[in-house]
Amino acid sequence: MESSGRTAPTTAHPSSGTGCAVVVVAAGSGQRLGRGIPKALVELVGDDGAFVSDGFGVVHRKQASVYDIARRLPSAMGGLVRTEVDVLRRLTSDPERPYAVVLGGAKVSDKLGVIDNLLGTADRLLIGGGMVFTFLKAQGYSIGSSLVEDDHLDTVKGYLDRAAGEGTEIVLPTDIVMASGFAADADHEVRPVEDLENGTYGAEAMGLDIGPASAEAFAEEIRRSKTVFWNGPMGVFEMDAFSGGTRVVAQALAESEAFTVVGGGDSAVEEATFLTRFAAKVTMVHR
Ligand code: AMP
Repeated sequence: MESSGRTAPTTAHPSSGTGCAVVVVAAGSGQRLGRGIPKALVELVGDDGAFVSDGFGVVHRKQASVYDIARRLPSAMGGLVRTEVDVLRRLTSDPERPYAVVLGGAKVSDKLGVIDNLLGTADRLLIGGGMVFTFLKAQGYSIGSSLVEDDHLDTVKGYLDRAAGEGTEIVLPTDIVMASGFAADADHEVRPVEDLENGTYGAEAMGLDIGPASAEAFAEEIRRSKTVFWNGPMGVFEMDAFSGGTRVVAQALAESEAFTVVGGGDSAVEEATFLTRFAAKVTMVHR
C-alpha cells in the first residue's frame, strides 16, 4: 500500500463507499500524535481501516501514534518510507564499488553508530569537519583550540586500529584552515596537520575547515567512486571563509555519475541546499 507522497504531518482519510478507510501518517516534520488520538483514529476508520506509516523520521519510535496504531490496524509502509529503506539497503548491503563515505559535522559522538557500521562496508571513509580533530588527536597530533571530544579518543583509536583489518581506509585531511578564533572575519591560514599549533595563532588556533589539498584529495576520491554517501559539512560552512572544503566536496558530488546520497539530520537539508548552488544532481536526500 502506498501513500500519494503527501507531506501533511497527519492525514486521516476515510474513503467513502469503498469499505476500506486509510489513515496516512506522514510525520516527516517530527510531529507526533497525542496519546488519545490513535484510539480516535481507529474509531474513525473502523475495523476495516488500515494504517500507512510514511514518516521515516519517526518509524523507529515506540509511541502510540507510531507503534500502537500499527498493532491495532492492518498496517503498511508508505512509498516515502519504502524509498528510504531501498536507498539505505543500497548503501549498506552490496553497494556498487568503490564506495566512499564523506563524514563531517561538529561532533564525532553524533556519528559513532554510523562509523561503527560503515567499517567493513565502505571502501573509504573521508573525515572532515569538527569531528576530524578527535581523530587527529587520537593519532597524536596537536590540534590547538579546535573542537575535540576527549572522552571519545579511545573509541576513535579503536576505529583507526580496526579499519585496515576490516577493509576500510580512513582518509584524514593533510592540511587544515586554522583561524585566530571562531568568527566569520577571523584571520586564518592553512597549516599542515603535523604543525597545527606552530602557526601565527599558536595553540589558540582553531581548525575551522579542511585545507585545499585535502579538499582536492577528497574530491578525487569522490570522482573515482561509484557510490557516495555524504553526511556533515567539512568545516564551518555557514561562514564564507571556512566553506571552501565543503564547496569542493559538494562540487565533486554534483559532477559525479555515482549513486550519491546526502543524509543525516537537519544539516542534510542545509547541505542539499548548499549543493543546489552547483546545480547538483543528487540521487537522494535522506533525513
Ligand atoms: P552536524 O549537525 O553534526 O552535521 O554539524 C554541522 C555543524 O558542524 C555546522 O554548523 C558546522 O558549522 C559545524 N562544524 C563543521 N566543522 C567544524 C569545525 N571545524 N569546528 C566547529 N564546528 C564545525
